[in-house]
Amino acid sequence: MQEAWCQEKLTDKKVRCGLCIIGCAVPEGGQGLCRTRANQDGRLINTVYGRLSSFSTDFVEKVPLYHFYPNHRFLTIGGVGCNLHCRFCLTWNITQTDPDEIETDSLSPEQLVNAAAGLRCRGIAYTHSEPTLNIEFYSEVMERAHKAGLVNVFATNGFISLDAFERISGFVDAVALTFKGSPRFYGRVCGAAYDREHFTSLVEAIRGKGIHLEVVYVLIPGENDDDESLHELIELVKKARVPLIFLRFFPSYKMDGLESPSEESLEHALNLAYASGVEYAYMENIFEHPGKNTYCPGCKTTLIEREGYGIVSWRIKDKRCPECGMEIPITGEPLLKTLSTG
Ligand code: SF4
Repeated sequence: MQEAWCQEKLTDKKVRCGLCIIGCAVPEGGQGLCRTRANQDGRLINTVYGRLSSFSTDFVEKVPLYHFYPNHRFLTIGGVGCNLHCRFCLTWNITQTDPDEIETDSLSPEQLVNAAAGLRCRGIAYTHSEPTLNIEFYSEVMERAHKAGLVNVFATNGFISLDAFERISGFVDAVALTFKGSPRFYGRVCGAAYDREHFTSLVEAIRGKGIHLEVVYVLIPGENDDDESLHELIELVKKARVPLIFLRFFPSYKMDGLESPSEESLEHALNLAYASGVEYAYMENIFEHPGKNTYCPGCKTTLIEREGYGIVSWRIKDKRCPECGMEIPITGEPLLKTLSTG
């Protein structure tokens, strides 16, 4: 049984969980909203410590991150559970199901790091389910990964508390932060209250520590493609000056009756982002489209062309646009062995 991080004793053996901003007060014998933290005799226990539901190797563009070690493969791992209850969750079978009913495996941090290195991955991405809920275990994996020269990617919904993030920040190299929509959308579709101040502080903490950040947004027609939602998103991205990736929604879970957004709808969101001053914006979950490419914000030269989850051409030289010399923010060297770099 693994003692949970970030707990505060209240009266009558009740314990406050401070791992995420929901801040459950868990009575003795009870569990938090995410069903991964249980109060046993006045102590909070992480009941999913080390339990892993999924493993694969993917291009980092699938996480998605577009400006971080481009074209490299990562070992992606998932646990169980989530602190949100999004009605469109693609991985609902591991996030919205009772953790006790999910089949999982256990691998040690050493086994995971050896697997990543053996598969020639550049690092490990903690994703598929909310990684915050397995933080006690993942922090051990991350520390070992760093010692082995690998990098760590934390793909989160951003509800992690600032205290918890501070504890792992020394091991995190990149964050893919999924933002969901307007405050109304968070309440109606994700079952949680949006806290603008927290998101702003988290983004500042990530950027302040020099950690690579990209913001991800699942675009759902008629749900969060309205101007109110998009402006909330764009303001956050502009303040942080980071890339923004629009993910095309696929019908899933309790929203399986909706349709995927049209290309026009994705283009509208992309154009709004660019027109509002976002420097790098993309669309993903679409095989081929100019909206997947990177353009120089200065002279509009096409710098990176993408197809599927891979890169097919690369024109950046020494992290600068070859035409106007503008610096292009890319963290880490791309893997370009088989690409056109002319
Ligand atoms: S991590 Fe789980 S138990 Fe802790 S505050 Fe968030 S939802 Fe509640």
